[in-house]
Amino acid sequence: MALYRDEGVVLTTTKLGEADRIITLFTRDHGKVRAVAKGVRRTKSRFGGRVEPFMRVDLLLGEGRTFDTISQAESIAAYAGAISGDYEAYRAANVIVETLNDLVTSEHEPAGAQYRLLVGALNALVQHRHDARMIAESYVLRALALAGWRERLGSCVVCGRTDDLTHISAPAGGVMCLTDHTPEAKPIGALALTQLRALAEGDWAVLDGAEPDPHAARAVEEWARYYLERPVRSMRLLD
Ligand SMILES: [Zn+2]
Repeated sequence: MALYRDEGVVLTTTKLGEADRIITLFTRDHGKVRAVAKGVRRTKSRFGGRVEPFMRVDLLLGEGRTFDTISQAESIAAYAGAISGDYEAYRAANVIVETLNDLVTSEHEPAGAQYRLLVGALNALVQHRHDARMIAESYVLRALALAGWRERLGSCVVCGRTDDLTHISAPAGGVMCLTDHTPEAKPIGALALTQLRALAEGDWAVLDGAEPDPHAARAVEEWARYYLERPVRSMRLLD
């Protein structure tokens, strides 16, 4: 069995057989990896609590035919403890891992920028650097943009004008002016649009101290639902 070393964040875990779990990880160098942690559900497991969701671990993995196997896992950052003790952060972290898990379907495909974005968002949550809900919303827009789905928020998707932007449509790819907006487009106010742009850019100078705008939040949710082709379940919980 060929071994490889990497670091990663645990996204989800699923029971397997009597004592094992399948751990879905997002790793720095190998992208998404699903690996079996043998005996992890036994009381005296050598993994302890290190392969739980939101843990950032240094890993030694063995390549397998269907699943890789986790040989060793050493904790780099115990995000799990800090996040599970804080309900807002916990919900936001769930939105983050669920989005990434749905967004990236292929395994062993390196995505270093996605990994850095993930770790950055979890660090910001743990350190309470910004509003937890806004960290999650900003993460969703930026993760989708990295995957090729960047919402056009600065100019009308039909005519390109940058003023009089009154509507937004996920299927159309962004904002629309009063003249061009399609029937399915939703109205969006200037303040909500400013907040949405700041979320997409991670512009915390604009976001910190601002009241989370429900219309901006809804636009993030719709953008994610349209491009992930399913609702982000944990995002519903943010409302
Ligand atoms: Zn237009």
